[in-house]
Amino acid sequence: MNEMILLKLGELVLKGLNRRAFEDKLQANIYRRLNHLGQFRVYTRQSTTYVEPMTDSCDMDGAWEALKKVFGIVGLSRARACEKDKDAILAAARGYLDNQLRAARTFKVETKRADKTFPMTSIQLSQYVGGELHELYDNLSVDVHHPELTVHVEIRDYAAFVHADPEPGAGGLPVGINGRAVSLLSGGIDSPVASYMIAKRGVALEMVHFFSYPYTSNEARDKVLELARLLTPYCGRMVVHVVPFTAIQEELRRSCPPELFTLVMRRFMMRISTQVARRIGAKALVTGECLGQVASQTMEAMTVTGAVTGLPVLRPVVGMDKEDIVQISRKIGTFETSILPYEDCCTVFTPKHPRLRPTLEELEAAEAPLDIEAMVQAAVDGIERVQV
Ligand code: ATP
Ligand code: MG
Repeated sequence: MNEMILLKLGELVLKGLNRRAFEDKLQANIYRRLNHLGQFRVYTRQSTTYVEPMTDSCDMDGAWEALKKVFGIVGLSRARACEKDKDAILAAARGYLDNQLRAARTFKVETKRADKTFPMTSIQLSQYVGGELHELYDNLSVDVHHPELTVHVEIRDYAAFVHADPEPGAGGLPVGINGRAVSLLSGGIDSPVASYMIAKRGVALEMVHFFSYPYTSNEARDKVLELARLLTPYCGRMVVHVVPFTAIQEELRRSCPPELFTLVMRRFMMRISTQVARRIGAKALVTGECLGQVASQTMEAMTVTGAVTGLPVLRPVVGMDKEDIVQISRKIGTFETSILPYEDCCTVFTPKHPRLRPTLEELEAAEAPLDIEAMVQAAVDGIERVQV
């Protein structure tokens, strides 16, 4: 094994979250994400986590890409291992970082020495390697304060490592450290981004999708499952609860004032999602609602839809512009799937003139003839759980 990946952990200074729990959760998540890429050893020393391949068949490129999407990591570097000898270290630096050494104008060498039996001090080794590299590359001059490239050398117990500056990681907190939530996943642009943002705060997610066959097609359902799948590199594997929603929508079309249809429907979504949350021990709901984006996303509308759940409704994109949401969706790779043109149940039976400033009394009056409990129960009983 001549290569490994070093990870810098984020937000360890957070109050209330203990460092050990953070590291343990992150380590477990890393093992899970690397599971299909080979056998790795993962361990943490002094807020650096080391990911070491155990066999030559480990997919290091795959591991690198996977680790870039793991929340809780702020920086990553790939490191070359070599013998603990000053000339072997120099050769490793030249071989491994040649491109970067050619491209930079200024550089320095920084050495960390965990193995105190190594015959040179950190400063001596940095000076030796730096001096030799300076001779070898005409383009380079030394700048210890603001170098374009830092060549990092680490002398550890069993080997030395050479690496360049870290690349940015996904940031955030390890998924699971802040409990679990249910995310309402439609086929749109916003809810996958909202899910990503809450997962980034360390929350494990299960998805709920409301499916109105035949008003919405199987392609629409597959699209939502694909969106969930696209989120798994960030959120981890998850369950998508596909809720049969046709009967409720048809009942509401029959018995509801059209201008309140969407809001009553959304209150059912919240009730059903709350039931799912209870079942799985989730402590919040997540939606992709954005203030003022559509009629059902006014503050009054959020009041009446939030009123049917005792759980907090997390709306991470509530204050964002559409362009900013789109930018994240492109970055995380959900955009192209989100814009596939399939109907969502929210666009089925939508009224021409939805109520923008609803009151709770109006909604309760509209729902009075309904057997809410039975309708919710039937939908919950019909849930299909899909593991992605
Ligand atoms: P999105 O882009 O996420 O679809 P949107 O701007 O289209 O959002 P709405 O259709 O009003 O807005 O939906 C608001 C939120 O309600 C969504 O972000 C999502 O969290 C939830 N939602 C809407 N439709 C569904 C559905 N069929 N299944 C699950 N959740 C849904
Ligand atoms: Mg939508």
